[in-house]
Amino acid sequence: MGFRTRFAPSPTGPLHMGHAYSAILAHDMATAKHGQFLLRIEDIDQSRARPEWEAQIYDDLTWLGLTWPTPVMRQSDRMAEYQAAIAKLHAKGLLYPCSCTRRDIAAATSAPQEGAPLLGPDGLIYPGTCRPDVPPNRITPGQTLRLNMAQAVAHVGDVSFYETGEAPDGTTGAITVSADALVETVGDVVIARRDMATSYHLSVVVDDAAQKITHVVRGQDLFDATPIHILLQRLLGLPSPVYHHHALIRDDRGKRLAKRDDARAIARYRENGASAADVRGMIGV
Ligand code: GLU
Repeated sequence: MGFRTRFAPSPTGPLHMGHAYSAILAHDMATAKHGQFLLRIEDIDQSRARPEWEAQIYDDLTWLGLTWPTPVMRQSDRMAEYQAAIAKLHAKGLLYPCSCTRRDIAAATSAPQEGAPLLGPDGLIYPGTCRPDVPPNRITPGQTLRLNMAQAVAHVGDVSFYETGEAPDGTTGAITVSADALVETVGDVVIARRDMATSYHLSVVVDDAAQKITHVVRGQDLFDATPIHILLQRLLGLPSPVYHHHALIRDDRGKRLAKRDDARAIARYRENGASAADVRGMIGV
């Protein structure tokens, strides 16, 4: 099996130095292993994705000296594939519709008898308000769908993956997350959002498999999402890539860079006359 990786930005703002680091690292790893570097545009959130940001992604990455095969996969073209995956999970009785708002969830988890609210990879761990005793016969488009985690782990058990980079706490190598930990610290994650009929977790898993990705190179901010991705791969019968989570590039005050942090945008450095080699020097790759 060759080495195939991808860089998967969302076109919701300018790429910053953290993206440059991630993309260059993935690209250089692929080159060193005589493998392939792919680009994927993660534009499922159509309320935030903009064509001008997508155009700028191509521009910035080309300026950095990166190349990738075309056509580029765009998630907004792949709704049928996501629906097929949702249908598979539904057929296993693992999905249920949820009508809770963020505010409902915050209120339910802050009730005095609940103790301190627990945070999972996607925010507050869902308290189970809408979880039915028996899975629904039908699900309809336009509903938020959650994964019944207790039922999901009953199919799969503990999940394991191989990490060649580092977890935020420095863990590396073979990593196992127990079924109990998935229930308690992740909970019933959203698989399809009302407004987009899919979710980050589902789309990334379906697309990594479709693109035959062998190595996922991405920031440590996504480390906690990885057990969810492995679980979904098992449930959908998809292979698991190796994961390489890298440290995040931070600003001078140690804060993680965000898309709105325009001062760190690659485009800003370009305008100010930096070269791609200067950018590599600044981020140490
Ligand atoms: N689209 C995600 C982001 O921009 C990255 C997805 C991934 O690498 O798994 O943060």
